[in-house]
Amino acid sequence: MAELKALASYLDWLESQYDEMVAKLVYLAGINSGSYNIAGLERMAAELNHLFGVLGGQAHRVALEPATRIDDDGEPRLYEFGPLLHLSKHPNASLRVLLVGHMDTVFGTEHAFQRVERLSPTQLKGPGVADLKGGLLVMLKALECLERSPWAGRLGWEVVLNPDEELGSPGSAAHLRAAAGRSDFGLVYEPAMADGALAGARKGSGNFTAVVYGRAAHAGRAHHLGRNALRAAADFLVAVDELNGRRPGVTVNPGFVHGGGPVNVVPDRAVVRFNIRLSDPADEAWVLGCLAAIDREINARDGITLSLHGDFGRKPKILDAAHRRLFDWLRCCGRTLGLDITWRDTGGCCDGNNLSAAGLPNIDTMGVIGGGLHSVDEYIELPSLIERSRLSALLLLGLASGRCDGGAFRGKSS
Ligand SMILES: [Zn+2]
Repeated sequence: MAELKALASYLDWLESQYDEMVAKLVYLAGINSGSYNIAGLERMAAELNHLFGVLGGQAHRVALEPATRIDDDGEPRLYEFGPLLHLSKHPNASLRVLLVGHMDTVFGTEHAFQRVERLSPTQLKGPGVADLKGGLLVMLKALECLERSPWAGRLGWEVVLNPDEELGSPGSAAHLRAAAGRSDFGLVYEPAMADGALAGARKGSGNFTAVVYGRAAHAGRAHHLGRNALRAAADFLVAVDELNGRRPGVTVNPGFVHGGGPVNVVPDRAVVRFNIRLSDPADEAWVLGCLAAIDREINARDGITLSLHGDFGRKPKILDAAHRRLFDWLRCCGRTLGLDITWRDTGGCCDGNNLSAAGLPNIDTMGVIGGGLHSVDEYIELPSLIERSRLSALLLLGLASGRCDGGAFRGKSS
């Protein structure tokens, strides 16, 4: 710890960056970058390419392959992603870190929440101020601090800024996996919790869509010829919901239903979407087995067909020994700065799940402190811009200077 204290003077420069960080955050939050707003994401990528240019690394913009999604009418449809920004420096360093943040927000152009507003001298409200635009600036400043230090070059880094995290990273997952394979540990700049605690273990998550087809008929003249897709969808939904409470840590949330039309027609199509969370990877097979059984039961009905789409895009994040070593180092850095760094488990998911699944130990709440995420009340505690930049920078400096033992993360997750 005394060794880490010797590095503290290299962090002093960060204090002078506060006004600039706040101004940049107001600017970035003013750019709408909802996951489906390609033009907004293009703009974000261009701005960030410019901002991160100060680090002097290699930058390139990656076009992601469009993906198929079942639309609300049950039809498969191709949809596009914004660009991914990849930056890297010192690729031949013996220790390598992957830093990840997302450019997208849950607030599309039609959402009511667009304005950035100062709530108090220390709080700013706005779309994405905490999730995750504040974190992008924390990442940038921590890297700047590293590059200004005598140990620049001793720690190789890659930055992945993706445009689709709020969708579950369907387009960028392969890119994250590849970058994880080239790195020794990962830092993801999702916001910390409102009390400053970090996320520890995370549940896994799967999104599923069931499309149910029946047979249309006149509700009066030929009711007996119809096969009601809404009824079958309702039975399906109830059966899926009844999986709740059967295994510890497994939850099912039916979240969307669409179907039917005029009430004088037997409806021939319905769409049900639901999300499943689980803590124990072994429960995935159990859940899929249950879904298959429900699927068979509905498909056995006369005139009814059900097709199920989706998978567990995010595996549970388990805190194994390599993750715990990384957390211990960060707590040590926190103590050096007078911060009590704690973490607790959460049901929420993020790209930290993806990195863990690829075998990369990581801490995924290195960003700012804030709250009201994904709502019109999203805010950031502005002083956390500096506090968390100092924390990140000290971890990077500790590893680059050899004061923290980076070898401890080698061999990846055990
Ligand atoms: Zn986020």
